[in-house]
Amino acid sequence: MDPVQQLQNMSALDAAHHIHPFCDIKDMQKNGTLIMSRGEGVWIHDSLGNPYLDGFAGLWCVNIGYGRKEVGEAVLRQMNELPYYNTFFGTSTAPATLLAEKVTGYTSGRMNRIFFTSSGSEATDTWFRLARIYWKALGHPSKKHVIARRNGYHGSTVAGASLGGMKHMHEQGDLPIEGISHINQPYWYADGGDLSPAEFGLKVASELEAKIDELGEENVAAFVGEPVQGAGGIIIPPDTYWPEIQRICRERNILLIADEVVCGFGRLGRWFGHEHFGFEPDMASVAKGLSSGYLPIGGVLINDRVADVLAQAGDINHGYTYSGHPVCATAALENLRIIEDEKLVQRVRDDIGPYFAERLKSLEDHPVVGQVETVGLLGAIQLAKDKTTRQRFQDVDLAGRTVRNFCYKHGLIMRATADRMLASPALVISREEVDAMVRYMRHGLDHLA
Ligand code: PLP
Repeated sequence: MDPVQQLQNMSALDAAHHIHPFCDIKDMQKNGTLIMSRGEGVWIHDSLGNPYLDGFAGLWCVNIGYGRKEVGEAVLRQMNELPYYNTFFGTSTAPATLLAEKVTGYTSGRMNRIFFTSSGSEATDTWFRLARIYWKALGHPSKKHVIARRNGYHGSTVAGASLGGMKHMHEQGDLPIEGISHINQPYWYADGGDLSPAEFGLKVASELEAKIDELGEENVAAFVGEPVQGAGGIIIPPDTYWPEIQRICRERNILLIADEVVCGFGRLGRWFGHEHFGFEPDMASVAKGLSSGYLPIGGVLINDRVADVLAQAGDINHGYTYSGHPVCATAALENLRIIEDEKLVQRVRDDIGPYFAERLKSLEDHPVVGQVETVGLLGAIQLAKDKTTRQRFQDVDLAGRTVRNFCYKHGLIMRATADRMLASPALVISREEVDAMVRYMRHGLDHLA
């Protein structure tokens, strides 16, 4: 059958039977589905053979790039040896145990334990429950409330969507559930006014202290944040922000949770985002880059302070059938071997990250670009109607969508959160591919101007 006909058939089947995440079903039925069929490095090809430069590493996850046969081979060996066994009731498998040792090893002793999940959302639910178990075991059952941030993203389960600060998710589901509050995000360009970024970082961090006062310290279990807010728009906090958040958490005796689902495994040029910003979480959720998305796996890293108390708590009544799944753990181990062997974390910090920053920054001369911010291989282009006054477009969503759709149509996959264009390519991207990305983006920006 000719490929166009094949695509049409597949698209019709999809429209008839498949509900996608975060989609408008009617729109998808009208527009059809693009079926992706093959990937190599940072390139992905649709079923008609059209190539796209994936500036987003799938969904911020394919850190080692597409098409790494070594992962498939390792996974096949494990599949044939032992496709599944659980980690309940005192059993484990070699891949799960070795992965636990490997991942905790990247924290240099800061977090010596990990609880495995299949996704970032399950990781969120896990630390949410563990934080409450922790305080209860210490004799403080009222310490249950968790403070998170507007526009944060922590997943799509009920707890994840509640902890996330996405208004559209809350509105649809009568969320957040009880016991969750949000403070502002450290978004200097939009909210900083006349303050310097450093002053603004302190000001917005002080909202945590105010919120603890309002709720009562005896009722607050934890604060959670992504080191860099991802889906919220790659909001890179001023340097003053995280040390101040850590100071408040320590002084007011609440747990500090880092959501490392996007920032972990090299994206910021360190194993974890909290290292870049110089803070030490009590627990940290991971997923995505742990296996580069080759198979689903996530987890929660836990420090000794929390783990020692959990050890006194009796049965931890929490777990998933696929916690520590041996085939997924094998994919993760092979992914981490590649990241280590190819020194991808150092590459982001010392080589491709600085190059990416320099090239993306070159877009700041464009009339509709207000600011370009990068850290490691995360980059955000802030659109502006008037760059001298930081005035934004009247319809921020339309501005972002216009650039994103133009880029997509011309072969560059990137994402927009309102009027911020987001890039998060695989850690293996070459300099030439960075140049190509920036060229495509400039065309997209021209289209908006
Ligand atoms: N946390 C962050 C920071 C994320 O960006 C995501 C997903 O994008 C999640 C959690 C949820 O992960 P998952 O989609 O694997 O459930």
